[in-house]
Amino acid sequence: MAPDFLALAACCPDILVCYDREGRRKYVNPAYEKLLGVPVGELTGRRIPEVSALPPDLAAVAESLVLGVAAGGPPQDKIFTWRQPGGGEFSFHLHLVPEQDGNGETVGVLAFARDITDYRRIEMELRAREAEFRALAENSPDSIVRYDTECRRIYVNPAYERLSGIPVARALLKTPLELSYLPPAEAAAYQQRLLAVMASGKPANLELDWKRSDGRRGLQHVVAVPERNPDGQVVSILTVARDISDLKEVQGRLEEAEAKARLGYWQWDRQAGKAVLSAEVCRIFGKPREWSPSEAEVLECVVAEEQDWIKATLSVALASQSPDVSLEFRIQGEDRARDVHSSIRIEYGEDGEPALLVGTIQDISEMKSYEQRVHALANYDALTGLPNRELFADHLREAASSALGRGCELAVLMVDLDNFKGVNDTFGHDSGDQILRETAARLRRCIRESDVVARLGGDEFGFVLTDLRPDADFEGTCRRIRDAVGEAFPIAGREVFLTCSIGIARYPADTRDVSSLLQYADAAMYHAKEEGRDNHQFYAASLTRRITQRLNLAAKLRRAEANGELELYYQPQVDLATGELLGAEALLRWNHPEEGLVTPDRFIPIAEEMGFIISIGAWVLRNACEAAKSWNQGREKPLKVAVNLSPRQFKVNDLVATVTNVLAETGCAPAWLELEITESLLVEDAVDVGHILEAFHGMGVSISIDDFGTGYSALSYLNRFRVDAIKIDRSFVRDIGARSDGAELVKAIIAMAHSLHLELVAEGIEEKGQELFLRQHGCRVGQGYLYGRPMPIREFEALLASRPIPSAA
Ligand code: C2E
Ligand code: CA
Ligand code: CA
Repeated sequence: MAPDFLALAACCPDILVCYDREGRRKYVNPAYEKLLGVPVGELTGRRIPEVSALPPDLAAVAESLVLGVAAGGPPQDKIFTWRQPGGGEFSFHLHLVPEQDGNGETVGVLAFARDITDYRRIEMELRAREAEFRALAENSPDSIVRYDTECRRIYVNPAYERLSGIPVARALLKTPLELSYLPPAEAAAYQQRLLAVMASGKPANLELDWKRSDGRRGLQHVVAVPERNPDGQVVSILTVARDISDLKEVQGRLEEAEAKARLGYWQWDRQAGKAVLSAEVCRIFGKPREWSPSEAEVLECVVAEEQDWIKATLSVALASQSPDVSLEFRIQGEDRARDVHSSIRIEYGEDGEPALLVGTIQDISEMKSYEQRVHALANYDALTGLPNRELFADHLREAASSALGRGCELAVLMVDLDNFKGVNDTFGHDSGDQILRETAARLRRCIRESDVVARLGGDEFGFVLTDLRPDADFEGTCRRIRDAVGEAFPIAGREVFLTCSIGIARYPADTRDVSSLLQYADAAMYHAKEEGRDNHQFYAASLTRRITQRLNLAAKLRRAEANGELELYYQPQVDLATGELLGAEALLRWNHPEEGLVTPDRFIPIAEEMGFIISIGAWVLRNACEAAKSWNQGREKPLKVAVNLSPRQFKVNDLVATVTNVLAETGCAPAWLELEITESLLVEDAVDVGHILEAFHGMGVSISIDDFGTGYSALSYLNRFRVDAIKIDRSFVRDIGARSDGAELVKAIIAMAHSLHLELVAEGIEEKGQELFLRQHGCRVGQGYLYGRPMPIREFEALLASRPIPSAA
């Protein structure tokens, strides 16, 4: 046997055995002893039934297979599973091929046996799962994990192990918090996000960005999809994670894994000008076993367009004396073209010339076609058929480099539907999907052939506009897009109207860094949202400055409560008929050490985003209740304090318990407290808002709907939830005298509230005329600059003292 084969066989992790034609072992590699515990010395020269790790019945089967192949039968593949007396279970995959001499005569049998015990075990656990899922998941280069409702991993694929270094068996039944390759803080945050996705029941794209222990940056794109049982309950969540920082490395590992599969070996003695090829190499090239080609003959097998490239690569490698090269190319096999991969080790002689080339060759055609299928799956959005975010990024990079080459400009447009969530929640997901598909089709018609539109996620679409002249007509494009979105969507026999917000970033005018273009367009889009939606905005440097400013603000906000920088202002609420003071709305202020008084519009969104709103909200509640308690001391007709609640406070902790405790601890009566909630909370209906509101009602705490009329109002929620009052948004009050239909709208809201027996508060009253109108149409309570701006508690208490305490009615 060739010395090279022996060297290879000796370090091969799989068992290799050569049999003679009578089924006696001629050679056994050390892996046999290592894996099965029978010394090589006992095995050589013996037949399987004489000595074997297999139990006698299986040994007989194995022997008959060997003899079959030795007698000229076809190659054999069989899995043997047995239980060792007193030991564990073993599973081996046996592959038998004839060993032929130079004349094609069978002289024996080569056996390859691979330990697949671990795979079998996992396989048993997963038997219940659909075969299709497994085929995809097990071969996927992406790490796929399934979590149960407690966020324990109930499935992880081999790629997860490769990616994380955590063995499948250890990862199973652990939560990210218990065991993860992420640092603890990131793991905890990740777990939270998975639970949130589970709670929402909707698929989400997550991005993971962390610092690895070796200091490098880890970046991962995760798609999380909640899975439902036939009853529609979410029972698990499936995540597909792609390491986007280390794509190359993962690819390498994939290749490594593939390389273990089917390898052909070859050797080339350059001085002798002779090649030795294994049977597998000949098979791949579609040549007879005795094929012994010259260099030129091998090259002829390579498809024409790749020959020059291969020659060049090899000669560069040889000239630089590099010890190994790997090549991927297509060859024209006998029946069809094949993709192959070859790793080559090169030994150089003393003269610096290559003396010996030893290599493997592997047919990767299937892997290639699999890659292409995955590419299709991974690059297009299933719902709309548009390119997804990843493909969009590819297009963008390409477009940018070609634009640069030709001195053209390009632009990225980010388009986000306004209030889409409301539509989705009101009309159901099927209708939401229908709208997204229709939107995609309309958007595709808005652009030229050469431009790209993609779905970036949710209700977010992205455009790459190429070949722009410096005076490009963005207004026209934006108008087309907004008109397309603005057309009626016929949904469930009704017409739904939508608007969108657009952000625009230009290349290279705004940035030369392609990777920030999308982020810039995103910032511009958010700016458009802030500007009241239904408009488009260009990126401006101030927007990124705003992003950094926001981050700085967030860092300071974290300490604001502890530093005593938070303060509550109070704005009077009065009886519109009598002018009597009824109470106050508590409005939060932040005394920022450098910037002075910061209004809530600037920091509440940050507090919500960062989760600070939970503790800040509790602080507000406590202070407002303390204030109410002190005002109402000895007061016959008590004042009410209104406190704003963020939707986040409903989602995260036990709000009812917090309110109960605060009331008990401050001595504030429940009837003195009014909680202001937003319409969106009721429309979203993600958490069990109904029960929480019931609980407040039961305690005697009242609930009002803030900014009424501004959200996406499908008013049916007013019947479903227990609310006591609505606050007419100040934009409607402002429109009373300003727009002809403004007054009509307010009248309608008031009439509706009356019919539902809801209390009414009008906010933002600045003028006597507005007050008069509201009073005449039956709105009882008012709030606005006309009666007082939000003021520090001392001022409010002075105002209280200056008014005669009205006697109880
Ligand atoms: P909001 O609940 O709609 O509060 C009323 C806002 O209207 C206040 O702005 C108030 O200063 C302003 N306002 C009152 N009367 C008039 C008027 O006559 N004309 C005009 N043009 N504006 C008037 P502020 O204090 O800046 O609060 C802004 C928003 O911040 C609040 O809107 C509320 O949503 C939020 N917010 C304030 N405090 C808290 C809090 O403690 N927790 C939470 N979650 N949100 C809060
Ligand atoms: Ca409010
Ligand atoms: Ca309001």
